[in-house]
Amino acid sequence: MTERKGILPSMRLDGMTALVTGAGRGIGRGCAQALAEAGAEVICVSRTRSELEELVADIEALGGKARAETCDVSEPGQIEALFEGLERLDVLVNNAGMSTVHPVTEIPVENLDRMLNVNCRGMVLVAKGAARIMERQQSGVMINLSSTYGKVGRATNSVYAATKHFVEGFTKSIALELAPKGVRVCAIGPTAIETPMTTDRLNDPVYGPDLLSRIPMGRFGQVQDVVGAVVFLASPAAALITGTTIMVDGGWTAQ
Ligand code: NAP
Repeated sequence: MTERKGILPSMRLDGMTALVTGAGRGIGRGCAQALAEAGAEVICVSRTRSELEELVADIEALGGKARAETCDVSEPGQIEALFEGLERLDVLVNNAGMSTVHPVTEIPVENLDRMLNVNCRGMVLVAKGAARIMERQQSGVMINLSSTYGKVGRATNSVYAATKHFVEGFTKSIALELAPKGVRVCAIGPTAIETPMTTDRLNDPVYGPDLLSRIPMGRFGQVQDVVGAVVFLASPAAALITGTTIMVDGGWTAQ
């Protein structure tokens, strides 16, 4: 490889190991593909093995490196098993998440528990596993999936929005804790992105246009709109960026 001479730091991730939770579909799948395209070896995690195997095959078909690991991030024992024996981790994309929409008077207890267990407790326990490895290495970056609803509220999506405000506070706090160890922690805040999670809502004749009216750029996002920010944050080009969220929201939260 020729020696780099310019000022622009590399956005390549060659030789790095990345782990993406919720990699089977949607944003997580795109992140895994993009990190692999940037040169990282990617550990692809979700509950559905068939989707992960298809993803690994797609990555390998483009010359990338990946492997599949099933894990339910709402199960602490499964998270422990995931990190057991993992020697090195340079990039974590803490992406697994879920959302259900209910007026506050109607929120089923099961949905409340599930969102808290996946979006909050799961995120913390995955970060804990990664932090132990990254502290030891004295290097690494975690990228947590926040949302526009990590910055603003949303009627009928209150619990989800609360979980994403949690992500913001958690990200800033562990960024402070891990900065002296050489570990960066950031978040990404996407607007409504077309994924299996959102298809029904974005196509709803009332909910969809209401969401769209809040996005100054005038369109919903695609997974491809998010992955560049993730690779940038993971790369040496973002070496001094920690404790902050990159909004990929078409201007929603600028209003
Ligand atoms: P998605 O299409 O529903 O995909 C979610 C992925 O997470 C799937 O691979 C799913 O696979 C996995 N997952 C769900 N529960 C899991 C669990 N308990 N353990 C392990 N994996 C689990 O969702 P998405 O729209 O891509 O959203 C991904 C992240 O971005 C979420 O944190 C979401 O809150 C955030 N986000 C999304 C949007 C949006 O508009 N799409 C906007 C802002 C933020 P299995 O079901 O097989 O486990």
